[in-house]
Amino acid sequence: MKLYSTRNKSIEASFQEALFIGLAPDGGLYYPAERESLTSLFEGFDKDTTFNEIAEKVAYSILSNELDNDAIKRIIKRAFNFEPKLKTITNNIDVLELFHGPTCAFKDFGASFLAASMEEFLTHDKKKAIILTATSGDTGSAVAQAFYEKENIDVIILYPSGRVSPLQEKQLTTLGKNIHALEVKGSFDDCQRMVKEAFNDKELKSTFSLTSANSISIGRLLPQSFYYIWSWAQVKDKYEKPVFCVPSGNFGNLTAGLYADWWGLPVKNFIAATNANDIVPEYLSSGIYKTRSSVKTHSNAMDVGAPSNYERMNRLFNEDISKFREKIHGEVVTDTQTEETMKWILDNLNYLACPHTAVGLLAADRYLKENKQDHVISLSTAHPGKFVEIVKQVTGINPELPKELSSLLSKDKEATLIENKLEDLVSFLNKGF
Ligand SMILES: *Cc1c(COP(=O)(O)O)cnc(C)c1O
Repeated sequence: MKLYSTRNKSIEASFQEALFIGLAPDGGLYYPAERESLTSLFEGFDKDTTFNEIAEKVAYSILSNELDNDAIKRIIKRAFNFEPKLKTITNNIDVLELFHGPTCAFKDFGASFLAASMEEFLTHDKKKAIILTATSGDTGSAVAQAFYEKENIDVIILYPSGRVSPLQEKQLTTLGKNIHALEVKGSFDDCQRMVKEAFNDKELKSTFSLTSANSISIGRLLPQSFYYIWSWAQVKDKYEKPVFCVPSGNFGNLTAGLYADWWGLPVKNFIAATNANDIVPEYLSSGIYKTRSSVKTHSNAMDVGAPSNYERMNRLFNEDISKFREKIHGEVVTDTQTEETMKWILDNLNYLACPHTAVGLLAADRYLKENKQDHVISLSTAHPGKFVEIVKQVTGINPELPKELSSLLSKDKEATLIENKLEDLVSFLNKGF
């Protein structure tokens, strides 16, 4: 698979190169520019095809010029010891639960595949790398879990001291082995600045083979297409072309669905469901793309005011808004509506949803009122137990913390406290681990 920068098609990379480079040198995002036709592959899948089988065959079809079948098999086996689940909640809505991985959110799919792919390439080339990442709390844990015990890779996570929740801190600091937590006396912005400074120091970067595992990595995006394909195969006997409803923030998840569609998956439409950070729905209705500062909402993992993956979508649609509108339908859900939806689906459908999932479900319901014949697969992006406070406040139910997370609370924290200066990070690197 050949990848190009969204900002300049003369900047090219292989999948392996893009994995370790992250952001393209011109600041663009890597995207696949040549369409693969996987229609006949998809036709061979049905409801009995396992998620891992689909992941393996699709990955092989798009990456076989760089990885042989055994390598792909190893990557998929090591990446996915968890699966999506599809639950029917009404006559025309199925919920695609993506929270059965180690950190109980869909980001586990992308992070695990990225980690397993990096491990495969590094082992093959007999090289080592250090992943350096800053987190404000949640995103770091998917990376930490995904890279845990991977060969030839160490992970250093910088987080702001006293500014992450106790559970988030446990997620970052209790793994040990190749996962190193640096507790920084400062803010998230300090952590991010230090990571940036380290990457900008060319000598430091090459001495330690520093690399990132950023959410914009194509290695995290591509594997997210697998669960669209799997869920389509689950329902294909019943419905010809499902509509996918995607609770969105940075639009990585939705973009992955668009790639599956582009490769030939029979999809009728996508619903882009957002909270008050409605940059993309606004663009679809007004034709004007205008980023702004994000506002805080109940579905905080979707509080994004400048969605990075707009660049990838725009490339896919050749900057043609009419193509955008043909494929994507926008819906905006307020916090009050999110609360009402969480209550309504619990009382009427006996289903407990996290706020992000609820945004999607209301958007799906609105769409179905206008398109009664359609069938929606609505993506559930996180386990309700990850958002205990808001779920309890809105529904009165104290959701059980998933066991993957509750077991962490009794484990001991291991972190190195440092000042918010690059030299402290450098001395940690020099000391070795
Ligand atoms: C990251 C995240 C989202 C948004 O996904 P994007 O790919 O950024 O659009 C939605 N819900 C949850 C729980 C998330 O963690």
